[in-house]
Amino acid sequence: MSPAAGVAGRIAGTVRADIRELAAYPVAHAEGCIKLDAMECPYELPPQVRDDIARAVRDTPLNRYPAADLSALRQAVKTAFGVPEAAGLLFGNGSDELIHLIVQACCNPGEAVLSPWPSFVYFDMAARFDHARFVGVPLTADLELDLPAMLVAIEAHQPKVVFLAVPNNPTGGLWPDDAIAAIIAAAPGLVVLDEAYQPFTDATWMPRVLDAPNVLVMRTVSKIGLAGLRFGYLAGHPDWIAELDKVRPPYNLDVLTQAALTAVLRHKPVLDEQAARLRADREPLAAALAALPGVRVFPSAGNFLLVRFSGKLDGNAVHQALKTRKILIRNFSNAHPLLADCLRISVGAPAENAALLCALQEILSA
Ligand SMILES: *Cc1c(COP(=O)(O)O)cnc(C)c1O
Repeated sequence: MSPAAGVAGRIAGTVRADIRELAAYPVAHAEGCIKLDAMECPYELPPQVRDDIARAVRDTPLNRYPAADLSALRQAVKTAFGVPEAAGLLFGNGSDELIHLIVQACCNPGEAVLSPWPSFVYFDMAARFDHARFVGVPLTADLELDLPAMLVAIEAHQPKVVFLAVPNNPTGGLWPDDAIAAIIAAAPGLVVLDEAYQPFTDATWMPRVLDAPNVLVMRTVSKIGLAGLRFGYLAGHPDWIAELDKVRPPYNLDVLTQAALTAVLRHKPVLDEQAARLRADREPLAAALAALPGVRVFPSAGNFLLVRFSGKLDGNAVHQALKTRKILIRNFSNAHPLLADCLRISVGAPAENAALLCALQEILSA
């Protein structure tokens, strides 16, 4: 028997059963497609900014590990993103990594990580990978936060960590401040506000991040034009940050990311302007979608819209028909009963939004 023939048996006996049953995180092949599936910013940075990045990257030596002292970058991030001066900051290779660090530092095996559900799938995945127990508290039928159910579940499960994506992905909803405050007051452990989509709304918990003893605010640059960089940050009381920093892989933020980010942050108004454009284009796109037959658009505070199709074609059929026309959006039809026939559409550049609407008109009237 060749050594390779034994691989399947060794895997079956070695890799955790729950991991063997999983599919890897889906990333669609997008060559030649209109890409409205991952909440990326459709705009490329202007040439002058790209030149600055190129210079910064060129002048970065690659033979040494990243420096221990990140205080200059920390200060630049605080200034650019309105992080309180007294807060500590932890940097991650994307906020996905920060989610892992939080669960790893806080949860013994089997302890609960809780979130309204459906929400960001990676809360569930990271919790399971890290041996915690994920508790998803169903949203209402209108995809709003069910605060009474949240408070009952917090009391019952005593979660070490509560994740609140505000605005929520994939639904787009913005949870009310008083509901967030009630959850913070009731939670026995940490409450992490994931503000990945904060640039597309006025709401933020950042100025209040030090007001309660159990709150952290997490952000990412992925949705504001820098998804290729992989950079997320977590703000909170310096003592919380110091504990989480202990499980951070050494040198998790590579020198090229640091150099590029430092250069980009000198042009922060460019990022703000791109986000403002997407935000301004959101409501006209929502109105145009809502005018199509059998389409319900849920209110969104992000750079995307969740849409339910209940006409002649179901969500799967509409998704497939768009894919045939080389338009990629994300299908949640089979992800959760509350999301039946729901597709999530990133707000794109005006020509992309127009192409999407045109294709949908064709598909829905065929
Ligand atoms: C996209 C997204 C993230 C992921 O951020 P990365 O920094 O790209 O890892 C985190 N949270 C939510 C809610 C998201 O939608």
